[in-house]
Amino acid sequence: MVKCYACSTTVVDNAEFLAHVRSKHGGNMEKVVYETEEKILTEQEAQQLLQSLGVGVSATVEGIGGGKLRLRITRLRRVADQDVFIDVWDCRGRLYMGKPEEEEWEELGWFSVPKRIFRPEIAEELENLLWQVIEDRGGAINMSGRYYLDKEHIEELNKIIRKGGGE
Ligand SMILES: [Zn+2]
Repeated sequence: MVKCYACSTTVVDNAEFLAHVRSKHGGNMEKVVYETEEKILTEQEAQQLLQSLGVGVSATVEGIGGGKLRLRITRLRRVADQDVFIDVWDCRGRLYMGKPEEEEWEELGWFSVPKRIFRPEIAEELENLLWQVIEDRGGAINMSGRYYLDKEHIEELNKIIRKGGGE
């Protein structure tokens, strides 16, 4: 199943997702995957904002006179937290949940997860959720890249972690 970035509809696979984008979103894949926000700011405000932008975000800046700038900020939709994602590389996935430099890792099937959240009794549910995230994003374990968790994924993750009595 692939989950649409714009409307959360789930479809069977990427081919059907393309068809969904064509029929429900006028065929504009970029609009479905990214959202754009426009802001008018002073130079100082703009600088602060640009410094705070994380990964998966890009911005264009245009002077409009009067010391003001127009920023167009484009971000990937349905990224609940830019620090929480599965990084897939070389047919392995690792779940990042912020502060990776302080993390120890636990192997879990094709994945590794932070040791601090892992308990053997939640292994199966946790692994299933990781597969779900990759599927929802239209990915696969042999398609390298970052797969961000959306709000529902994070709620599910927290539920599983609580069940394990982890952090
Ligand atoms: Zn949609």
